[in-house]
Amino acid sequence: MRGSSLSIVVPVYNESDNLRHFHAAICEEMAKLDYDWELIFVNDGSTDNSKEILLELEQQDSHVQPIFLAKNSGHQLALTCGLDHADGDAVITMDGDMQHPPALIPTLLDYWNQGYDIVQTIREATEDASWLKKLTSAGYYKLLNIISEVPVQPGGSDFRLMDHQAVVAFRHYREHARFIRGIIGSMGFNQIQVHFTAPPRFAGVSKFSPKKMLRLAVDGVFTCSTFPLRIGLYAGVASMFASFLLILHVLYETFVQEATVAGWPSIMACILFFGGMQLLVLGLIGEYLGRTYEETKRRPLYLIERGKPRDQNNRSAIS
Ligand code: UDP
Ligand code: MG
Repeated sequence: MRGSSLSIVVPVYNESDNLRHFHAAICEEMAKLDYDWELIFVNDGSTDNSKEILLELEQQDSHVQPIFLAKNSGHQLALTCGLDHADGDAVITMDGDMQHPPALIPTLLDYWNQGYDIVQTIREATEDASWLKKLTSAGYYKLLNIISEVPVQPGGSDFRLMDHQAVVAFRHYREHARFIRGIIGSMGFNQIQVHFTAPPRFAGVSKFSPKKMLRLAVDGVFTCSTFPLRIGLYAGVASMFASFLLILHVLYETFVQEATVAGWPSIMACILFFGGMQLLVLGLIGEYLGRTYEETKRRPLYLIERGKPRDQNNRSAIS
């Protein structure tokens, strides 16, 4: 075995109907394996009674190590908080709604023991996903891979195992707007992919509202790439070329054919086209500038209301 301790990190936002079932499933799985383990639930400002259930589970089972964030910070930052506080020789991140099957944990550990540092799972197809979600997701990953500097695997999920060394490396990434899949893809290490089919949620509905989903998608594009900024350059070169041809045409008509060029419609078309293009490019620059401003504030990524009960980063404290 490559190490003896495992941390499981689970972001939780309003999962009261799933938590007990999920905890039982993890206990069942871990009972078959010979590891010291901790189950870090990061309560991401839930507004249902998830907090009470987590406190109850903490009382019942010493493996349960909940962290309570002061407010809803979003799935990606909740995961980051869990990874910052995970002490295991290996760390598995997974969702708490049973869509990331606990039965896959032994497979992830097998690969880790074979020497892989990051075992990344790839979701084949979510059985309960709508055709619209499937289509937009497929199109999005295509676009992202065209413009992104690092490859991002379609279907890549935040269900993965990371060796402690990879977790330590990941902790150096401190940007606010983050797309963890993109960061992991760019980190190197010895990575392998495992495919799985995500079952429907055990209970409740998706906590990713269309707004949150769009935010994550936009973060993916803007944090993985500066390509959008270059759209202005390409469009500028193309339109300069087009206007050069237009000037030649005008000169030809004026001097060779000696015809006056009639034309407010063409002038309006040009003004509208270039005006639109300039606004688009300004908007893109504004997006990057706004992001740069947000990051330069260097605010904390998340605020903890109540931390892990046992000493943080004390690796020997795992039972
Ligand atoms: N989640 C979170 N904060 C949020 C939204 C979601 O911690 O703001 C958690 C949620 O409780 C779940 C995981 O992130 O454990 C994945 O969310 P969900 O299952 O709703 O996403 P989907 O599977 O629909 O993409
Ligand atoms: Mg889910």
